[in-house]
Amino acid sequence: MSAFDYDLFVIGGGSGGVRAARVAAGEAGAKVALAEEDRYGGTCVIRGCVPKKLMVFASGYGAMADEATAYGWDITAGAFDWSKFSGRLNSELDRLEGVYRKLLAGSGVTTYDARARLVDAHTVALSTGETVTAKHILVATGGRPVRPDMPNAHLGIVSDDIFHLETLPKSILIIGGGYIACEFACILAGLGVQVTQYYRGAQILRGFDEEARGLIAESMRDLGIKLHTGTNIVEMHRAADVDDDLMSGPAEDVQFGGATSEAPGTGPIRVKATHGAIEDFDVVLFATGRTPNTADMGLEGVGVTLGRAGQIEVDAYSQTKVPSIYAIGDVTDRVNLTPVAIREGMAFVETVFHGNPTPVDHALIPSAVFTQPELGTVGLTEEQARDQEPIEVYCTSFRPMQTAFAEKPNRVLMKLIVSQKNRTVLGCHIVAPNAGEMIQLAGIAVKMGATKEDFDRTVAVHPTMSEEIVTMRKPMRTA
Ligand code: NDP
Repeated sequence: MSAFDYDLFVIGGGSGGVRAARVAAGEAGAKVALAEEDRYGGTCVIRGCVPKKLMVFASGYGAMADEATAYGWDITAGAFDWSKFSGRLNSELDRLEGVYRKLLAGSGVTTYDARARLVDAHTVALSTGETVTAKHILVATGGRPVRPDMPNAHLGIVSDDIFHLETLPKSILIIGGGYIACEFACILAGLGVQVTQYYRGAQILRGFDEEARGLIAESMRDLGIKLHTGTNIVEMHRAADVDDDLMSGPAEDVQFGGATSEAPGTGPIRVKATHGAIEDFDVVLFATGRTPNTADMGLEGVGVTLGRAGQIEVDAYSQTKVPSIYAIGDVTDRVNLTPVAIREGMAFVETVFHGNPTPVDHALIPSAVFTQPELGTVGLTEEQARDQEPIEVYCTSFRPMQTAFAEKPNRVLMKLIVSQKNRTVLGCHIVAPNAGEMIQLAGIAVKMGATKEDFDRTVAVHPTMSEEIVTMRKPMRTA
């Protein structure tokens, strides 16, 4: 009989933690417990990918009505009913949370609806007052959105709050230029909100292929999003709390002042930008990044080391400096994507419970940004690849048949980065409706090490947008 209460104690009931717990209990026969202080399903299911994607779908229907008229349909888009949609959205999230709980119970995992704190290398204290021991502990506590460190930042919301808005704002200012900022800018614009976005850098979506970023930015402006790059927020106050006289001069001469109250309150928020504009917005959304959930968990006390961003430091097997403690998912700040956390969870179980040391393969992970149009990407950007070796760039941009027929300006982009040395496709970047679906499949070829000639000998599926990926004959340039 084991000296411990459990073989495995998982802290965090998100995608990674739940998968690891289920597989360890269900397939490896381990005695497993899991603690979750909030809702089961974690960021992805409750306040991330899933509700976001449902909002992406919701936001697409308005434009469809417009396009349908070009195809002969007598359709007029009506008003979007946020309360109807969010009611259905919340029911769906309740259902999914139930599914997660059932999956855990069905695998024989004991669950604690509690916050867990590490006491030593094998012991966890729960907020219920219980203390449990385990041979292995897996920390899968994810991350949370952060506001910038500036006065009155609490007046703004973060992505978690979007799904709980009682009404849809008329206007929103989004700060940031990453995945979350750009996705919500497109979603909210599609739902009829006047969207302004400030990004401090020269171009949104830092780290992605430059031409893809450029087309996404153009497309976002075509959607009516007022996208200001090289711009940040300087000050924010509740408009009702700001002295009108101080706000009435020319913007460049005006400094905020006379703010009588910093309490939460209601009403529009008055914002001053680095380019001098002063504007009121119903809501300000900070999409300024996320931070790992490692605070007040007793991690450092038991010897687990944290990196500069507060992330848990792990080796290739997700093992921390304390041999019995592992960590997976966003809390380790490696590649912060749900399917990666799940992979890390599976690799952990394989390593620890099947005796088969399995490092996590973080190479060539396909991913998508659910802007409108979407950006699907796998492998190196042109900029990364040309720094690495001589390359050929194959690229095409065109107006796709469906929206061109409706006389819409929409463009798509297909791009392949090819090694001159061995002809391997080093990167594939697609900006197009449903690019997320396309890149999943292109990702298989790239992961297999396909060459440009492998793409070329694949027959086109006609007429589709994605056929262009196998019909680009001549490189646009070499680098
Ligand atoms: P990101 O790190 O991608 O983006 C944060 C943005 O905020 C950047 O543009 C950053 O600018 C900016 N920023 C940071 N601090 C400040 C500041 N003080 N003032 C102004 N701007 C600031 O974070 P997200 O929150 O968008 O997403 C977090 C992670 O979640 C992603 O990296 C991704 O892994 C995951 N995710 C994945 C999705 C998907 O797969 N579709 C969807 C949503 C999230 P700068 O570029 O200059 O640093």
